[in-house]
Amino acid sequence: MSYVEDVLGIVEKRNANEPEFLQAVKEVLDSLKPVIDKHPEFKNEGILERIVEPERQIIFRVPWTDDQGNTQVNRGFRVEFNSAIGPYKGGLRFHPSVYLGIIKFLGFEQIFKNALTGLPMGGGKGGSDFDPKGKSDREVMRFCTSFMTELFRHIGHNTDVPAGDIGVGAREIGYLFGTYKKIKNEFTGVLTGKGLNWGGSLIRKEATGYGCVYFTQEMLKTKGEDFKGKDVIVSGSGNVAIYATEKVYELGGKVIAMCDSNGYVHDPEGIDLNIVKDIKEVRRGRIKEYVEKRPNAKYNENFSEIWKLKCDIALPSATQNEIDKASAEALVNNGCIAVGEGANMPCTPEAVDVFLANKILYGPGKAANAGGVSTSGLEMTQNSMRLAWTREEVDQKLHQIMVNIHQSCVDASNEYGTPGNYVNGANIAGFLKVANTMMDLGIYG
Ligand code: NDP
Repeated sequence: MSYVEDVLGIVEKRNANEPEFLQAVKEVLDSLKPVIDKHPEFKNEGILERIVEPERQIIFRVPWTDDQGNTQVNRGFRVEFNSAIGPYKGGLRFHPSVYLGIIKFLGFEQIFKNALTGLPMGGGKGGSDFDPKGKSDREVMRFCTSFMTELFRHIGHNTDVPAGDIGVGAREIGYLFGTYKKIKNEFTGVLTGKGLNWGGSLIRKEATGYGCVYFTQEMLKTKGEDFKGKDVIVSGSGNVAIYATEKVYELGGKVIAMCDSNGYVHDPEGIDLNIVKDIKEVRRGRIKEYVEKRPNAKYNENFSEIWKLKCDIALPSATQNEIDKASAEALVNNGCIAVGEGANMPCTPEAVDVFLANKILYGPGKAANAGGVSTSGLEMTQNSMRLAWTREEVDQKLHQIMVNIHQSCVDASNEYGTPGNYVNGANIAGFLKVANTMMDLGIYG
């Protein structure tokens, strides 16, 4: 058995009940076989065994009271996965599906994503099985306060810097930051995604979506294509989906469908983003309300059928494993030429195989959605300097980072003999930076 297979065996045995984590690890390790052949020193120093094991995993009780005065208990997580190249960095997810395996898959991906940005950030992730949907602002505040009364002792602006993810937006970051500031009696950039009045960065809110479109634009350029006149499907209607849609329109494309976990809307004339922003950002409503304002649009309750619509470009921006093999085949058969992942691991391994076999431009999340954490890194820089850059400055830096990430993927995939394969490119380029650093720091580093 090869070194990679040996390590995969260990991971499977040790984490048998965490399918999402196993899926993420297998995808990365499969890409690394040629790297390991070329660098036997990684095996000698146990780099793979070490990189698949989180440095620290914290699980804690989060008690809070609801508006009726009842006591509720949720579970909180922070997985500090790898700090070789900088403080742990990665978002917090509040969603009922959260358990340790989801946080570990996200934390593992984050190591390589953060390395690809070129900024000094290690990998981490956290969250809770708390569901903010349907909760009042006061309930969310009480939950966030309780969550932070444990989390604060593990994080810090030089140690671990959380941000948002599914279910954690500006409101939640505000309550979390307020509690941290009060307990620690210090005002530091310990969280990113902060409000503009209290240390946030312009463009952070837009960054993941914009970055995903910038990355996809770079992929399209390699085939002499661009977004102009293209029909695009963007799944989700949260932070990433909304700002991916905004950038698609800026670049001359048309978004024809969006969704939430209940269903999707199809608007062949082009989704009116102001309506979506009003429903989702202002009223915290459901996407089906869209058709009340746009009678020509259609609502369909079967969320996954969104991928059966004909489009040129797909930007899955909702959640993990939302595109399976059948959905990928439908996209390919309908003439889709590019897939840029706004979400983390939205395509199953079988779906990815379909895209690669059909030579679709396929940008994996750890590269294509790295714009969010990149701009979080820029927020940290501004906090350290105690000044704020303009919108144009941040956007220009974000754009350049996405161009650089694309180039790193292209270079690594060429060097290791799989040109055009962005999965291998992203995994190898991210891995080499972290693995070489781990070599420098020694096995106890
Ligand atoms: P939000 O909570 O703002 O939005 C998530 C969207 O996806 C909502 O429309 C939600 O619908 C939908 N969704 C969530 N779960 C499911 C599901 N199981 N089935 C169908 N739809 C679902 O989250 P974000 O936009 O921040 O995150 C979206 C994705 O992007 C995630 O994979 C996240 O990890 C990834 N990401 C986010 C970054 C960021 O900066 N925010 C950075 C990098 C990656 P509903 O409201 O019905 O739940």
